[in-house]
Amino acid sequence: MLDVSLATRNPGTEYPFEERQAIAPQKIGGDTVSFDEAILKGNLKAMENGDVEVEGTLKVLAHGRCANCLKPAQVPVEAAYRELFQREGDPEDDEIFTYTGHVVNLEKLAMSYAVMHLPMRMLCREDCEEYVQYLETEDNPDSCQKELPGQHPFAALQQLLEQVSDER
Ligand SMILES: [Zn+2]
Repeated sequence: MLDVSLATRNPGTEYPFEERQAIAPQKIGGDTVSFDEAILKGNLKAMENGDVEVEGTLKVLAHGRCANCLKPAQVPVEAAYRELFQREGDPEDDEIFTYTGHVVNLEKLAMSYAVMHLPMRMLCREDCEEYVQYLETEDNPDSCQKELPGQHPFAALQQLLEQVSDER
């Protein structure tokens, strides 16, 4: 919640802000993604007509499931925003941001920017995908959180080659 009473009395003047904003869990592609409290930093500025422009950056940690191994995954989300909050806007209109009184509610902005900037596939770790593709040949897609020897893909390949040659 941003108090914009000072800004609306001084149109054109920028006021810095830092806000924490809760974001409700969202259903995305059949999965529920939850969020830690978002941190929004930026500047707000009122227009002559009372609309308020809010611009800055959002940071939030998103919690979901790894697209490969389905284990819990958390992804830091960072986004830059610049939006106009219309004083006389229709609050039912999804295409615009609005505010009433002297308070701008950042919940809709935080939610939409966090969701928009989620990665297409959340992964439990950056190299999970590679490892699962490799493991699928062993029909063992569930082991992707185990550490690879030396964390090097060729080390694992080396190990596989050794196993194969042992079986001969
Ligand atoms: Zn994974």
